[in-house]
Amino acid sequence: MTVSRRLNPGDTLIVASHNAGKVREIRDLLAPFSIDVRSAGDLNLPEPEETGSTYAENAILKAVAAATAANLPALSDDSGVSVSALDGAPGIYSARWAGPEKDFAMAMRKVIDLVGPNPDRSVAFICVLCVAWPDGHTECFEGRIDGTLTEPRGTNGFGYDPFFTPDGYDQTFGEMDPAAKHAISHRARAFTKLVESCFTA
Ligand code: IMP
Repeated sequence: MTVSRRLNPGDTLIVASHNAGKVREIRDLLAPFSIDVRSAGDLNLPEPEETGSTYAENAILKAVAAATAANLPALSDDSGVSVSALDGAPGIYSARWAGPEKDFAMAMRKVIDLVGPNPDRSVAFICVLCVAWPDGHTECFEGRIDGTLTEPRGTNGFGYDPFFTPDGYDQTFGEMDPAAKHAISHRARAFTKLVESCFTA
């Protein structure tokens, strides 16, 4: 039997995340494809522990857990911010640096203080999107955007957006219109690859 691993208009897709900011952005990216999007939070699916040591391992954990629990295709996102002067930290631990209170103002301050006067202000956002199918098959897609560590500005977006100025722009992700962020972000770049591979044209 041939298993179809393409997403077609009208298909249901679980977004395997409990992070409201990510779910909102992924819904926006999926909007043109007429997919019936449900979030893991809406369906009360359990949130697996992120025990992987790479973005891809964690993305696979989350997507497989949701696809198995719901018996539907599931899309997960594992992402983070990588600061050159901190040897890539916080990286896969980006959410954890904000603590149980999810205090990203505190996490951004911690990063900026740790970098201190180091002239290397390079920062990158990285995103791995993973689609898991109910039969256990997974496909991962990575996107990245480089930028500069900036004193936090703006209230748009989520997480570390206010301290990130993408290369070639003056505004931080926190100041940019969401559509402008979606045009260039790490998540959008991973999403373009996913569309090429998984969506029916
Ligand atoms: P995780 O993928 O659940 O481990 O969480 C990733 C964390 O990275 C998020 O909680 C944010 O703190 C951060 N992050 C990932 N993508 C973005 C983004 O687009 N903007 C700002 N912060 C992000």
